[in-house]
This record gives sequence, C-alpha cells and structure tokens, in this order.
Amino acid sequence: MASNRLTYRRRNPYNTRSNKVRVIKTPGGKLRYLHIKKKGTSPKCGDCGTALPGIPALRPREYAQISKPKKTVSRAYGGSRCANCVKERIVRAFLIEEQKIVKKVLKETAAKKR
Ligand SMILES: [Zn+2]
Repeated sequence: MASNRLTYRRRNPYNTRSNKVRVIKTPGGKLRYLHIKKKGTSPKCGDCGTALPGIPALRPREYAQISKPKKTVSRAYGGSRCANCVKERIVRAFLIEEQKIVKKVLKETAAKKR
C-alpha cells in the first residue's frame, strides 16, 4: 500500500494562511494537494461597518481587474456607505438646513419687534 501522506507543491513549507490546500484526485487517480487562494473580504460601510450588499467579496488584485459598475451601486456614496447610513446623512443634512432657516426667521422676527 502506498503512503497516503501528501507534500506541498510550492516552496512555502508551513501551514500558514496563505498556504492552504485541499486534497484532490487527479485524472490519473492520484491524490494531490490543490493550493487554495485566499478568500476575499467584502467592502464595508465606512460608517457602520456592515458588508456592502451588491458588491462582490474579492482579493485586492481582483478588484483592479473588474469593471467599475461591479464595484459600486448607483446611489450617492454607493460602494462606500450602506443605504441606511446615506439615508441618515441626508436626513441630518436636511435637518441642519431647516435649523438654519428657523434661526434666520427667528432673528428676523426679533429684529422686526424692536
Ligand atoms: Zn452603514
């Protein structure tokens, strides 16, 4: 019976994150290690940290190789902030503007009274 121990097929001899393998059977019926590429991580919302839906989880080099529409969603801050955070930003900006108007109106009425 042949030995069932397998050897790495690359120069890195350690069981590190970048040296993960899977056992496969070759067309010739031999068992052999198949080196697995590292898994990509999906881009996160810059405000709340949730993974952005609609954008694939890839390795950095793979992002350079895919087209722009695959890395973003068509919305303000798409591909950078999640929909909820954008909504919050819009509401906050609106309320700040409203507050400014209120302040202005109050100032005007106070000036008129005098
Ligand atoms: Zn968010």
